[in-house]
Order: sequence, then C-alpha cells, then structure tokens
Amino acid sequence: MSDENELPKCPFCGGEASYTDTVGIGVTTNRYGLCSCADTQCLPEKIIFKVGKWRTRPIEDALRAENERLKAENADLSYRLMVHRRLSLP
Ligand SMILES: [Zn+2]
Repeated sequence: MSDENELPKCPFCGGEASYTDTVGIGVTTNRYGLCSCADTQCLPEKIIFKVGKWRTRPIEDALRAENERLKAENADLSYRLMVHRRLSLP
C-alpha cells in the first residue's frame, strides 16, 4: 500500500473500510480511530477494530513475501534455462 492514509480493504469480503475518527484529527493513521466494513451485510454482527489492528494483515503479508520469493526464484530458473538452452545449441 503506497498511501499510508489509505485503509486496506475488508479482510472478510474485500469491500471498502469504514473509518471513524474518534479524536477528530482527520487522518486514518490515527491510532485511536476505529474501522469496520462499510458493507453492513458483510458480517452478521458489526465488528469494530482499532485502526492499527485493521491494518495488521499477517497472513496477507506472509503470502506477499512468499509470492515475491517465488517470483525471484522463477526469474532465476528462467534465466538458468535460457543459458542452458543457448549452451546446448549445436
Ligand atoms: Zn466486509
């Protein structure tokens, strides 16, 4: 996420986040702010998170890191395959 003021999508449905600025400073980086899903049908009960908790996505972070590692491994293997094919030409 490039904009630190941008909130991540809902972890349950992928919809927009709803933010409540509890101290009125107008930024979503406010650690006292509260978040929930903007879609009232998303969860059976309204669940509200502190903004820091809403931003914490350990599973997504781990998957992104694994994805980056696999992309790097794929690029390395593609390069090795290309070199191998060029060296194997008659
Ligand atoms: Zn949702």
